[in-house]
Amino acid sequence: MDILVTNDDGYLAAGIRTLTRAASSLGEVHVVAPDREQSATSHSLTLHHPLRARQLSDVTVVDGTPTDCVILAVGELLDRRPDFVFSGVNHGANLGDDVLYSGTVAGAMEGTLLGIPAVAVSYTGRDPDEIEAWEPLLVDLLGRIMRREGFPDETLLNINLPPIPPGEVKGVKVTTLGRRAYEGSLTRAEDPNGREYFWIGGGESRWWGGPESDFHAIRDGYVSVTPLHLDLTNHQLLQDIRSWDLSP
Ligand code: MN
Repeated sequence: MDILVTNDDGYLAAGIRTLTRAASSLGEVHVVAPDREQSATSHSLTLHHPLRARQLSDVTVVDGTPTDCVILAVGELLDRRPDFVFSGVNHGANLGDDVLYSGTVAGAMEGTLLGIPAVAVSYTGRDPDEIEAWEPLLVDLLGRIMRREGFPDETLLNINLPPIPPGEVKGVKVTTLGRRAYEGSLTRAEDPNGREYFWIGGGESRWWGGPESDFHAIRDGYVSVTPLHLDLTNHQLLQDIRSWDLSP
């Protein structure tokens, strides 16, 4: 099995080291990762400047986004098409609405778009140094996923690890996406020259969602596995919207 590993925190992040070690127990690993922090770049592509790939001792680093990394890896850099794409372990949660902004999820999603089974992994705790202890659990969980026949089409698995020691995990729950809203995360201030600026980040987050949701599973001490489908169509609304008389 050939496994492509990428992330959005950059190749030096603690999380990708742990995911790489876990994946090495399961197959031949090829790491192609951003050369710097690319969190919250979502599914962006670099179109307006050339991309450079540099081979370091055991990883290839790209001056682009996670999506760029997967496209370059599958299209040019790897000798063989990978059997799996793993993205992460992200430093921070990718729960609910987070998945729409996440570069980690997008890295996996690019694998899905290319027809390669893909898994995103994120750690919901605050301290990236704690990710290392999750290696045995990841070997077990990712191994179970890899051994399944028939990984679903057009679907990636979004895994979140709870902010507790792995020995205290209650189990694995298959979940739905919850919802998350941020409050007070937009700052308006003045720079030293008196010019106004804005800064997105920080603040308090509030979440909600059904009892099946990813937030509930994490709060209750479970590993959350959410199958994410590429088709964002609201199928239930098709008939209704067709009746809106939109034609000129
Ligand atoms: Mn990140």
